[in-house]
Amino acid sequence: YYNENSVLYFNGEYVKAAEAKTDLYSQSLHYGYAVFEGIKSYSTAQGTRIFKAKEHYERLKRSAELMLMPFEYTADEMVEITYELLEKNGLSNAYIRPIVVCSPNMSLSKGKESYLAIEVWNWDNGYLANQMNVMTSSFERPNPKAFKVEAKVSGHYVNSILACQEAKDKGFDEAVVLDHQGFVAESSGANVFYEKDGVLYTPPKGSILPGITRATVFEICDALGIPYTEKLFTPEEMRGSDAAFFCGTAAEIVALGSMDSVPFSLPWEDTLSSVVQKAYRHLVVEEDYTYLKSQLKLKYA
Ligand code: PMP
Repeated sequence: YYNENSVLYFNGEYVKAAEAKTDLYSQSLHYGYAVFEGIKSYSTAQGTRIFKAKEHYERLKRSAELMLMPFEYTADEMVEITYELLEKNGLSNAYIRPIVVCSPNMSLSKGKESYLAIEVWNWDNGYLANQMNVMTSSFERPNPKAFKVEAKVSGHYVNSILACQEAKDKGFDEAVVLDHQGFVAESSGANVFYEKDGVLYTPPKGSILPGITRATVFEICDALGIPYTEKLFTPEEMRGSDAAFFCGTAAEIVALGSMDSVPFSLPWEDTLSSVVQKAYRHLVVEEDYTYLKSQLKLKYA
C-alpha cells in the first residue's frame, strides 16, 4: 500500500506514510468506532478525476454525524485535499481511503475531537472480465436496530470479514449476505442486483450500505431506459435468475457466474447487466452517455 516515498494526509498535514503514527488508546482500535470511505480516481482525457468525489465525502460526513462524531471538514475541502494528495504521490488510477478517528478515549462515550486521515495507493483498473461464484452466507448483516447500517463504520466490517472468509474457505469467491429477516441484503463489500426478464432488481435501503455505485447504476438505467426496481427478495428468487452482479467502488460492476453453485441462466454478454457494466466503465472515464446510447441501440435495435 505504501513505500518510503508515500505521503498521506493526517489532521491538517501531509506526512510520510511510513512515519505516520496512530494512538493505541483509541476507541477506533478497541471498539471499531471510526468511519471511512472507499473512493477511486481514474486517469481520463481531462487528467486525473475522482469519481463521485463529492458524493463519497458527503457520505463520510453523514457517517460521522450518525456516529455522533464532531467533524468539521466540508466535502469540497476534502475533495481538494485529495487531489493534492494524489498529486504529491504521483498517482492517477488510485484507491482513496479517508478515515475519521477520534482523540484518545477509552470510554464508551461519543468522540470529543476527530481527526481525518486520507491514504491513497495505486489501483490499476483492469477490466473485470471474470465472473464470481458466490454463496449465501451463514452470517447475517447486522440488524438495523443494533447499528446504523447506512453509515460506513469500521466496526461493521468485522461482519464483512467473517462472511467473506467463510465464502473463500468454502471455495467461493464471495458471499451474498442476508438481512435479519432472510432477504438478500448485499455482499461483504458491495451491493447486489439480479436480472429477470429484462428488469434489474436490488434490495431497498434498510439493511444495506446505500452504495454510490448502486446509485450510479440507477443513473445509468435512467439514461439508457433500462427498467429497475428496489424490492426485498429471497435468495431463492435470485438463484438461477437470468443474471446478477455485485457493484461497488472497488469492484465496479462484477458479473456473478453462479450462486450456491447454481449458474445464472443467460450468457453474460446477452444481458442488460452487461450493458450496465460497460456503461459504468465508460462513465468513470468519460462522464457521458452519448456513446452508450448508440451502443445500446446497436445491441437492442
Ligand atoms: N456495501 C458494503 C458493505 C460496502 O462495503 C460497499 C463498499 N463501500 C458497498 C456496499 C458499495 O458502496 P459504494 O458503491 O459506495 O462503494
